[in-house]
Amino acid sequence: MNASVSLLRPAASNPATHPELTAALRATVAAKAAAALALLRDGVAEFGANGELAFANSFGAEDMVLTDLILSNGLPITVFSLDTGRLPAETYTLIGEVERRYGTRLEIYFPDAGAVEQLVRSHGINAFYDSVELRKACCGVRKMEPLRRALAGRKAWITGLRAAQSVTRAGLPVREFDAANGLEKLNPLSDWTEAEVWAYIRINEVPYNALHDQFYPSIGCAPCTRAIAVGEDVRAGRWWWENPETKECGLHVKEG
Ligand code: SF4
Repeated sequence: MNASVSLLRPAASNPATHPELTAALRATVAAKAAAALALLRDGVAEFGANGELAFANSFGAEDMVLTDLILSNGLPITVFSLDTGRLPAETYTLIGEVERRYGTRLEIYFPDAGAVEQLVRSHGINAFYDSVELRKACCGVRKMEPLRRALAGRKAWITGLRAAQSVTRAGLPVREFDAANGLEKLNPLSDWTEAEVWAYIRINEVPYNALHDQFYPSIGCAPCTRAIAVGEDVRAGRWWWENPETKECGLHVKEG
C-alpha cells in the first residue's frame, strides 16, 4: 500500500468552517436544530433516561452539534467517547475544553492494553498502512472492541453521521436498526449539510477541533487522517491510501 500524503495543497483559508450566516441559513439551522432536539427527546421517552440511550461522541464538527444539543439542554443521554490512543493532540485539547464548557466529565473508553500490545508486537506500530486487513485489525482492537463495551446494555445509540459525507453513507435514514450491534441507531443530523453544521457551531459558539480550520473536515486517528484540498470529498482525508468503498472503520458498517 502507498501511504504517502497527497501532494495537493490546501487553499490559504478554509471557507467551509466559516459559512456566510445569511437569514435563510440561520432559519434552516434553527428549524433543523429544533427537529434534531425533538428526535433526541423522543429517543429519551422511548428508550429511557437511565443510560439506555447513549451518544457516541467522536468530537467531529457534527458530534459537537449533538454534544451541544444534549448537554446544553440537560438531556439524560450518556455521552461517551473512544480514545484509541492514536488521537491527534488537538482532539485531546478539545476533550478538555468540552468538559470545562459543559461542566461534565465525559465517559471515555480505552482499548484493551493486552490486545494492543499483541497487535503491535506482531505487526509493527504503524501496520495499518500495510494492508486493509491490518488496518481493520487495528480499528477492531482500538475502536470496535471498546465500542462493544460502551454499547453493552444500551437500547439505542446516537451518531453524528450525515448522508452527504461519503458514498458509504448515501441515503442514511434518521433512524435504523443497527444489526451489527443489535440495537436502534439514531442519526439526527442525517439530512444536514456541512454549511448547516458550521452555521450551528458559529451561531452557538460551540467549541470544535482546531484541525477543522486546517482543512481536516473529518478527523479520526492522527496517522490515518490528513488535510484535504479544495474540491476533494470531505472523507478523502481518512485512510486516503484506500478505495472509497472500504473507508469505514467498522463502527458504522451495515451487515449483509
Ligand atoms: S483509524 Fe488508524 S490508528 Fe485509528 S484505530 Fe483505525 S487503523 Fe488504528
